[in-house]
Amino acid sequence: MKLYDIVIIGGGPAGLAAAIEARNEGCEKVLILERDKELGGILNQCIHNGFGLHTFKEELTGTEYADRFIKRVLELKLEYKINTMVIDINAEKQITAMNKTDGMFTLQAKAVILAMGCRERPRGALNIPGYRPAGIFSAGTAQRLLNVEGIMPGKEAVILGSGDIGLIMARRMTLEGAKVKAVAEIMPYSGGLKRNIVQCLNDYDIPLKLSHTIIDIEGKDRIQGVTLARVDQNLKPIPGTEYHLTCDTLLLSVGLVPENELSAGMGVHLNPVTNGPMVNELLETNLEGIFACGNVLHVHDLVDYVSEEAKIAGRNAARYVRKTDTPKDGTRTEIRLIPSYGVRYTVPQTIQPERMEEELTVRFRVGNVYLNKCVTVYFDDRKVHSRKKKVMAPGEMEEIKLVKRELMKEPSLKEITIKIEDK
Ligand SMILES: Cc1cc2nc3c(=O)[nH]c(=O)nc-3n(C[C@H](O)[C@H](O)[C@H](O)COP(=O)(O)OP(=O)(O)OC[C@H]3O[C@@H](n4cnc5c(N)ncnc54)[C@H](O)[C@@H]3O)c2cc1C
Repeated sequence: MKLYDIVIIGGGPAGLAAAIEARNEGCEKVLILERDKELGGILNQCIHNGFGLHTFKEELTGTEYADRFIKRVLELKLEYKINTMVIDINAEKQITAMNKTDGMFTLQAKAVILAMGCRERPRGALNIPGYRPAGIFSAGTAQRLLNVEGIMPGKEAVILGSGDIGLIMARRMTLEGAKVKAVAEIMPYSGGLKRNIVQCLNDYDIPLKLSHTIIDIEGKDRIQGVTLARVDQNLKPIPGTEYHLTCDTLLLSVGLVPENELSAGMGVHLNPVTNGPMVNELLETNLEGIFACGNVLHVHDLVDYVSEEAKIAGRNAARYVRKTDTPKDGTRTEIRLIPSYGVRYTVPQTIQPERMEEELTVRFRVGNVYLNKCVTVYFDDRKVHSRKKKVMAPGEMEEIKLVKRELMKEPSLKEITIKIEDK
């Protein structure tokens, strides 16, 4: 069995950034395994701009952003295998994968980085009556058809769900000559970034129907139309508010789910809110030497944060392999991070201050739209920090910074709670 220092599952932006950083940190035998026919992950189908503003201080397309990392991987002569699907990993860090040339094979790694990204949630169409005619696509599938295969999914579209991919596809379909009649969102707020609502819907006069859902799909062979209705506070359609739109295409953009079948199979503990692994300050899971980063850990809004996080996982995996990491302090229990009052989750979920870097970014999402509220931080029952924010919305990731020297002054600290409060 071939032995590697670090095997990275997934060659998207997370896997690429993790591999580069692991090499920078001195790891020689690093391998990336990617099931697709090229490196770059989901970015290969993102030909719109808006990527890399934080990382490169310029606006790149998704493909350009990926290209910069791929070039670096090639310069560093990092080993990778494409068209290679990982089908199993066990807690002993043995990885079983298959491809057309090698067949099925097993590798032994000293550390593993999970970077498998996420997939689109399909359930949006499942609870709508009507046949399942042709013309219903997930927004990401439509994006791939249009941007990679050069196939136009349809001419008259309705989009269900206002996640970022749906918003981007509303603009993309319009630019290619389709008529996008509406984006229907069941919640009273959009699931996407504000900038995407402005640049992809408002600029093209595409109506965003908040608190609306589709209650009927018409058509047997090809979709011919949908019936929309307003929903009440319990998300139930309100009788009398129904109206009909003709369309030949329905795109579903109802959320993303981290790809964690491999993680769960090997015994990694998952967070029920993110569906991603529970991790500590090193982005290490409950299994020693198994790290996670990118959309497999939690769904990100911006790829820049994916790259930033992946560097942390790559660096810590390399330190683990090279035994240059700070050993766990057995005398101190880990501090738990508790999301509360409007905060849905945090990443990481635990920290040991001795092992963290000078500053640690804790990312989280809120569960509602909040205007002029504060993000507050409590050390056990003591409020230590409060920062006012004009707007917070579920579609945008939030963050706080924790400083090592401040935490080191608190040897008995057990919990750090993050809340949304008035002041
Ligand atoms: C449609 C769309 C539009 C977006 N627009 C923007 C934007 O405008 N600006 C922005 O900053 N961000 C945007 N993002 C977000 C950004 O692209 C993602 O955050 C980023 O791609 C996540 O990187 P990742 O490496 O975690 O996942 P991915 O890019 O999904 O890569 C994961 C890789 O793992 C591989 N993999 C999975 N399972 C296995 C397995 N078992 N074996 C081998 N390989 C496997 C997959 O094939 C894939 O290549 C967009 C995302 C999408 C989906």
